[in-house]
Amino acid sequence: MDQPHALVVASPGLGHLIPALELGNRLSSVLNINVTILAITSGSSSLTETEMIHAAAARGTLTMMRAMTPAVRDAVKSMKQKPTVMIVDFFGTALLSITDVGVTAKYVNIPSHAWFLALIVYLPVLDKVVEGEYVDIKEPMKIPGCKPVGPKELLDTMLDRSDQQYRECVQSGLEIPMSDGVLVNTWEELQGKTLAALREDMDLNRVMKVPVYPIGPIVRSNVLIEKRNSILEWLDKQGERSVVYVCLGSGGTLSLEQTMELAWGLELSGQSFLWVLRRPVSYLGGSSKDDDQVSACLPEGFLDRTRGVGLVVTEWAPQVEILSHRSIGGFLSHCGWSSVLESLTKGVPIVAWPLYAEQWMNATMLTEEIGVAIRTSELPSKKVIGREEVASLVKKIVVEEDKEGRKIKAKSAEVRVSSERAWTHGGSSHSSLVEWAKRCRLVS
Ligand code: UDP
Repeated sequence: MDQPHALVVASPGLGHLIPALELGNRLSSVLNINVTILAITSGSSSLTETEMIHAAAARGTLTMMRAMTPAVRDAVKSMKQKPTVMIVDFFGTALLSITDVGVTAKYVNIPSHAWFLALIVYLPVLDKVVEGEYVDIKEPMKIPGCKPVGPKELLDTMLDRSDQQYRECVQSGLEIPMSDGVLVNTWEELQGKTLAALREDMDLNRVMKVPVYPIGPIVRSNVLIEKRNSILEWLDKQGERSVVYVCLGSGGTLSLEQTMELAWGLELSGQSFLWVLRRPVSYLGGSSKDDDQVSACLPEGFLDRTRGVGLVVTEWAPQVEILSHRSIGGFLSHCGWSSVLESLTKGVPIVAWPLYAEQWMNATMLTEEIGVAIRTSELPSKKVIGREEVASLVKKIVVEEDKEGRKIKAKSAEVRVSSERAWTHGGSSHSSLVEWAKRCRLVS
């Protein structure tokens, strides 16, 4: 008999490849099985990753993946060691239609959370019953057994129902239940209520149909940086939990006006900061990594006035190592799910600054359900957040000057412990992965 073998297919773009690689790592290290990663690329090697993601998004990743179905079928057929199980991601659900390649089970990996999964599988129902645009709804939409989704929590793909991206999302919601089950990057103790609704709520389970396996948090682990990194050297000199880390993901950029206000706010807060700054969207010219260009987008004299107190970097920062550093007291984040998990697993409280994708949902969940974050009064994607507000949010999290700040810090520490427990031997996510592997006959 062939050795158990899992095939993980990643849609184009780093944002899809990284979760696929992390899942592959986890499967091979925990279950001791062979894993193959099949990475679909968009074929334009001259583009940057961000450009590639946006280009793929513009063409419609799901449409593109659908067109790739015959090629993926051929690739699987030509594999010497046939995979037993195929795992696709959220954009690869069209590949679930592949048959005759010897795969005995097909799963979907959702590198996001259970509330997002619930919304996606319920979207075809909402699509039928909700009239007009979701942005115009007065009452939050009910997702059976889950927190309702209001205009502040919509996915960016739900903002325009005539858009191709939206249709793709609905299609994905229809296709996910055609798999044999879903792996989701969360854990029982973090989202027990939503996971229970997916399994047990009659109205939600009617659309979910297949088993859900929470196997998170799956995050990148610390890599040993051989050359002492100047960012980490700078952090070494800072006090315990005194620094706010500011980073808006791999592609999050702000307007020039917002970049200025954020800078003034950080200065006003008086707190130490480490800021991974990308070139503002409205600021043309130069490359996003051009230091002179970037500093020209900051208030005059900002870098001189904050020297010693703050560090602004324009290169790719070692985020996991930064969040693991004892000097980090808070994280001003765009709330991409990987960033969120990296923060939760290190017990770092968050200032939620959601910008796109499902980040508005994430911000609501972190503030209202989990209690590890505070957020801006308005959506930063809609309105410029002023310097006073920035300063007050940062101080609340880092200095914990009031009851709310202290509560958030305590909760963050609690969630860190629960994230570690989920992955100990016999912990909820470890058990869930083993149960899944047994069901797929990957282990006996
Ligand atoms: N990241 C990093 N350094 C940076 C910016 C981002 O290491 O300077 C990593 C971060 O640790 C995370 C990923 O890039 O693993 C971003 O994923 P996330 O889901 O948070 O946001 P996205 O970039 O997909 O919007």
